[in-house]
Amino acid sequence: MNDINKGNAIEIKDANENDDVTYVPPLLEVHGLTKFFPVKQGIIPRTVGQVHAVDDISFTLERGETLGLVGESGCGKSTVGKTLLRLVHPTYGSVKFEGRDIVGMKRRELRELRRDVQIIFQDPFESLNSRHTVRKILSEPFIIHRLGTKAEREQRVCELLNRVGLDESAANRFPHEFSGGQRQRIGIARAIALKPKLVVCDEAVSALDVSVQSQVVNLLLDLQTEMDLALIFIAHDLAVVKHVSDKIAVMYLGQIVETSTSEDIYRAPKHPYTQALISAIPVADPTRRPDRIILKGDVPSPILPPNGCRFHTRCRYAQPRCSEEAPPLELASDSSSRGSAACFFWDDLKLSHTQTEKIASN
Ligand code: SF4
Repeated sequence: MNDINKGNAIEIKDANENDDVTYVPPLLEVHGLTKFFPVKQGIIPRTVGQVHAVDDISFTLERGETLGLVGESGCGKSTVGKTLLRLVHPTYGSVKFEGRDIVGMKRRELRELRRDVQIIFQDPFESLNSRHTVRKILSEPFIIHRLGTKAEREQRVCELLNRVGLDESAANRFPHEFSGGQRQRIGIARAIALKPKLVVCDEAVSALDVSVQSQVVNLLLDLQTEMDLALIFIAHDLAVVKHVSDKIAVMYLGQIVETSTSEDIYRAPKHPYTQALISAIPVADPTRRPDRIILKGDVPSPILPPNGCRFHTRCRYAQPRCSEEAPPLELASDSSSRGSAACFFWDDLKLSHTQTEKIASN
């Protein structure tokens, strides 16, 4: 029987044995990740199109770091989260966790991976088995991975409940006997049971009341510090993401349009879409009327995304070039901020950032 508390950290060395330099890859390395879902039609279903859910995105994540992934509903951010755990198989691209390729992993390797990478879903009621007691739900990861004796598992369940702020007596109850916030705490306890290195929080607080949201966010931040956890925080609420993230990637129609540190993206957003999102954050001061940027039109269909810049159908700065050529996500550093943006004209648009800067600083 394996030790229930045993960590599984590994040190990956450079392939060249003679080289003294030890190469430690990033915790997570995503390159060219793409996921298309086929659209089927007819009595004998045949593929008539593809939903471009995620289209050629790349990013890295270091140990203990938090990446906020934001964008409107349907932009592909949850699909990204699921492909990282191979709950969804990517169409193209590579995903490496500590240098190991997730995309080509076999079932047994995937089971091992899920000790290190976990997910917390938006709706804890859906993700917790309603016919199982909390004890059974929290014991399951240890049973699947054959960790500890029955007594050790029982002890770990109590420790986990205490750690997420629930009483040990909760172990005997069923998920429907708890409030939404308590259920999400159970979901968090299950996610951290095996001491993972990365947790994907897929809209983990979106369904909760505002007061409960902050408690759950603070719990996640405490656990992150305690366990040196890396987090991918997927949300459409930019105010929450700002609070938790070291860096942020903004997604639009399956692509990343801007990445930067949390501070820079709120202080000086470069991409017009990011500007619009930030201008929509509510301002606490009732005497101030923020200059909202209202985006025209609807999000185009991901089955037939627009040519050129995908945002050009809604962008107030669009030029003829924007509908013909796709802007690459390029380093767009200037003296006041860093990051990358996928816009031909981000530098010329700086003056118009003044409005959003004012809003972000409040
Ligand atoms: Fe707008 Fe053109 Fe920039 Fe796209 S490339 S965000 S359409 S200005």
